[in-house]
Amino acid sequence: MEFSALHEHLDGGLRAKTIIDIATSKNIDLPLDDEKDLENWFFENISTEKNQVFKKFEMTISVMQDTDAIHRVAYEAIEDLVLDGVLYGELRYAPLQHLKEKLSPQQVIDAVSQGVRDGEKDFGGEFHTILCAMRQHQDSTEVAKLAIDNFNNKVIGFDLAGPEYNFPPSLHKDACNLISESDIGLTIHAGEAADISYIEDAVFNCQAQRIGHGWQIIEGCIFKNGQYIPNSKIAQHVLDHEVPLEICISSNVKSGASSVSIDNHPAIKLLKSGFKVTLNSDNRLMAKTKISEEFKKAENYLELDGNLHSQLVKNAIDARFTNLK
Ligand SMILES: [Zn+2]
Repeated sequence: MEFSALHEHLDGGLRAKTIIDIATSKNIDLPLDDEKDLENWFFENISTEKNQVFKKFEMTISVMQDTDAIHRVAYEAIEDLVLDGVLYGELRYAPLQHLKEKLSPQQVIDAVSQGVRDGEKDFGGEFHTILCAMRQHQDSTEVAKLAIDNFNNKVIGFDLAGPEYNFPPSLHKDACNLISESDIGLTIHAGEAADISYIEDAVFNCQAQRIGHGWQIIEGCIFKNGQYIPNSKIAQHVLDHEVPLEICISSNVKSGASSVSIDNHPAIKLLKSGFKVTLNSDNRLMAKTKISEEFKKAENYLELDGNLHSQLVKNAIDARFTNLK
């Protein structure tokens, strides 16, 4: 099976062993120093709807502050993804969060891109990166410009990440406009922790081509005969224009920022209703998952069958930024 990974955070997918190795060499304190214990620590609930706590990311980002460490994390991500059957991926990260040891943003991007290229060379597949601006900060146009300048250096997309609630996408409209006028693809986290108005804002005001998570599109639908039928302008638009939804079941169930459970996640019902659903892992470490696992969960808990399985694989191919732009 050939998977595409479209919503995959570089700082959410480190190996516990790598965190321990780097932390040890740099005298960074870890809450636990056994690999399995540390994995479990990362897997604990991390946020609530109105207060998404990013402590676990502070930890992973703290060990990604020099070029060797950043290169290693990117390289290992490619190895782990290919081992899971992912032959195409777009890895996202926020370059401005890796400047604590005086790297320049360009050095950060070069280290990630080189790790990705070296990973492709050794393990195969086709991989690109997405640069994230943090929505609680005011530097999104700087990140957008970096993305545009690095279009030929593995960067293929731009994203707004970080705490969603109270930080609507249009706070970053200038950055989104720059991206829309460029060759870079635009995806925005919306409708993960906050309501459907954030999806509306991302699509109508910021021209997002894909939506990160987006499961709360169900608020703009009625549920009838097993299908979600739009009864709002935004849900109708997302359905009609096949706006890809980067759905992350395990992450939603686990993060605490979403009110869904593994038995009632709307991912597959949205797919059956014609929405352009793709399955993603989000954070392989924090959600303790991988893409193949997301498909298994959808089969075991959400009635994903063979035909729908192929549809999901095809949707993710269609939604690659190499195919959307
Ligand atoms: Zn995400």
